Amino acid sequence: MNTSADYRNDDARLDDADRAIVATARDFAREHVAPHAAAWEHERRMPADALRRAAEAGLCGLFVARDLGGLGAGRRAVARVLEELAGECMAFAFSLVVHNNLTGNIAANGNDDQKARYLPPMLSGERIGAFSLTEPGAGSDAAGITTAAWRDGDGWVIEGEKAWVTNGNTAEILSAYVQTDASAGWRGIACVMVDAEAPGVERLPAYPLLGTHGLGTNGFRSLAAGSRMQMCYWLPATASKRP
Ligand SMILES: Cc1cc2nc3c(=O)[nH]c(=O)nc-3n(C[C@H](O)[C@H](O)[C@H](O)COP(=O)(O)OP(=O)(O)OC[C@H]3O[C@@H](n4cnc5c(N)ncnc54)[C@H](O)[C@@H]3O)c2cc1C
Repeated sequence: MNTSADYRNDDARLDDADRAIVATARDFAREHVAPHAAAWEHERRMPADALRRAAEAGLCGLFVARDLGGLGAGRRAVARVLEELAGECMAFAFSLVVHNNLTGNIAANGNDDQKARYLPPMLSGERIGAFSLTEPGAGSDAAGITTAAWRDGDGWVIEGEKAWVTNGNTAEILSAYVQTDASAGWRGIACVMVDAEAPGVERLPAYPLLGTHGLGTNGFRSLAAGSRMQMCYWLPATASKRP
């Protein structure tokens, strides 16, 4: 029978490498997050500078294998890292994990060109990433997204509106979930890498929230209409059926 102790996430269960990652996060949280968290909220400011400093500490490649330049942390260690950071500032931890989810996603699903192009600047914190699935009319029902993408030469053109994009008011790179074939339902959904500075991409103002303004959460409109974006991957279940 499981007891609550089986689920406790303590550092004794980590190996030496993962324990060192958690210690780095703990030191970082005390030195670079705790002293500023109240000011970030007061100023309603997403602390991109702190995210970049976290990259210097290696904290932007938690899910990326070491041979690709990341830390290759275990899931339990990542949970502990986020616990340390969120204890000082939940918005910062959320923002960092969104960036990490994208570096991990590119490492796992990107092609060699995408790994070479996106991982180095994202692991160094030079470019910040965001995840863009939600739309004004599609939240829990993610399969209902309507942002459309169609082929244009060897790239893709995208048109639609995205909402609630954490890191959105700062991110240079977006992983946008798009519908490539509405008649195929969820099977038509793919992930496209979007340069947030590309012509046609309109960055909307950050949302006023009750708190956690450090998330820099906003929306995007007419994602890159007329611009050519790179396909990252199809949803895994349909990948084998796609070009
Ligand atoms: C601070 C913040 C940051 C966010 N960051 C991101 C981000 O980085 N990227 C991104 O893509 N999205 C992001 N989101 C969006 C978030 O993922 C959505 O808010 C979430 O998916 C819910 O969608 P919704 O708000 O449209 O609510 P809805 O889908 O409209 O749901 C409203 C309520 O109805 C319930 N409900 C919905 N469908 C059903 C059903 N079939 N049966 C029973 N109950 C149901 C839900 O549980 C919920 O309580 C963020 C949101 C917030 C608030």
